[in-house]
Amino acid sequence: NPLASAGSDSPVPEQVDVCIIGSGLTGVSCAYHLAQLVESGAIGSMKLVILEARDFCEHLLSLVRRNGGQLVVGRFSKMHGLTMQYGAEEAIKSTAIEEYTVSEIRKIIRENGWEGDVDLVECRRVNLVFNPRDLGGIESDIAAARRAKVSGIDNVEVLTVEQAEKEYGAKYPGYRQPGNNLWPLKLVTKLFQHAQDPAASRNSTRSFPPAGFSSATSSSMDLALYTHTTVMSVIPSWIGDSNRAYDVQTTKGIIHADYVVHATNVYVSHLLPQFSEPENAVVPVRGQVIGTRASVPRGELWSDNFVGNAGFEYWFPRPCPSSERPLIILGGGRESAPWEYNVTDDSILDETVGKTLRGFLPAVYPNSFSKDTEPEFEWTGIMGFTPTKDPYVGLVSSSSARPSGEYVSVGYNGRGMARAFACAEAIAQMIVAKQNGKTWERPPWLPIWYLTEQTRTGL
Ligand SMILES: Cc1cc2nc3c(=O)[nH]c(=O)nc-3n(C[C@H](O)[C@H](O)[C@H](O)COP(=O)(O)OP(=O)(O)OC[C@H]3O[C@@H](n4cnc5c(N)ncnc54)[C@H](O)[C@@H]3O)c2cc1C
Repeated sequence: NPLASAGSDSPVPEQVDVCIIGSGLTGVSCAYHLAQLVESGAIGSMKLVILEARDFCEHLLSLVRRNGGQLVVGRFSKMHGLTMQYGAEEAIKSTAIEEYTVSEIRKIIRENGWEGDVDLVECRRVNLVFNPRDLGGIESDIAAARRAKVSGIDNVEVLTVEQAEKEYGAKYPGYRQPGNNLWPLKLVTKLFQHAQDPAASRNSTRSFPPAGFSSATSSSMDLALYTHTTVMSVIPSWIGDSNRAYDVQTTKGIIHADYVVHATNVYVSHLLPQFSEPENAVVPVRGQVIGTRASVPRGELWSDNFVGNAGFEYWFPRPCPSSERPLIILGGGRESAPWEYNVTDDSILDETVGKTLRGFLPAVYPNSFSKDTEPEFEWTGIMGFTPTKDPYVGLVSSSSARPSGEYVSVGYNGRGMARAFACAEAIAQMIVAKQNGKTWERPPWLPIWYLTEQTRTGL
């Protein structure tokens, strides 16, 4: 983590245009998109800081920093219910945003030649259905997605028990579609470096900038990162002598800012208590993960990534030579704990969850995993769940007693890799539109139900 403690010893600036709180995928993606908007000429210049209480990208992504994160479009999940609630045209946006995120991230990786830097593995995502009762629900979701002509739905293929056993050694039916794994911390590091200095972070000899972008340098983008800098409060600066809208009180002093982005995920309610109300809650849910070796070499095992047991378990191999036994990253086991809801302590492991995880792969693939193999790694992390199972994106609801330049993008329900980058783009666009005195227009891939009430009513 080359940026782990970047800026931790430096004093913070007194004045900035935008202050982003949190250096995870959301905060850094927001900085990346703002830098792109400056580079494209959509806005003249910008002084921007990212403030991080811990190490750079420390929280959730630290948990997956030893392994790859799954970057997969959920093409049909919840499609039936969403169609009933919002109509087919809006419902397909639940897939459109993930499709957009995955294709944009892959495009950026390709254009900059980062494939090796971020350990991108293009593979297939296999969804194994353990309980026959789940089949009906999945089939109606797929049927609804086909009726709505969800992009890519034709790439979803059904796996019979016989096929799954032949190809994977697992006796369960399932579904399969294209997928990707990558190393999240490495991606976020690259995105930050690119936002700060696009030319320096590029490996590719391919021509750049891409079509549609001016060749202006990013010299008008002034981006700095301050780790080990906790934000304690964000208050309107009506009373002070600053011309800026907000006083951001940090452990290193006050920063005056025009815009504030809360990219704090599961911690959001510390600064914005309204996100602890039941209808807007971001509920902390602990996830546990192990890294364990297969008992056969990679050449005799699958290289796809998997989800099973109604989404509770997910697993995938780390790349290695075909003669070596691969390390498999397996997360889940919450159903045996039970659920791990409202658990915020990521410093301890749950014994029951650990036992479930240890028994899982030998039970699903008896010929490729041994019950006697102890995991090489085991760790936990906290995910942010919401009542809608989708994130909150947009302006923070406020009374007329506060200025309206505070934004939030939090609560990805364990699917941040496929959504945070695009949600952060929407926030960057909202800021630039407001700064330019224009009305923000919702991108075609952004579901309306992701938007905060304040943003929805302003449309
Ligand atoms: C074990 C595990 C495995 C996962 N695997 C996957 C996967 O394979 N695919 C997928 O799509 N998703 C996965 N997820 C979910 C994904 O990691 C998250 O959705 C994503 O990381 C959220 O990013 P974020 O930037 O919004 O939040 P975070 O990464 O949590 O960043 C928020 C940051 O804000 C900082 N912060 C909070 N409060 C303050 C403050 N007051 N002052 C300063 N800084 C503050 C925190 O320290 C933190 O670094 C997984 C999650 C876990 C726990």
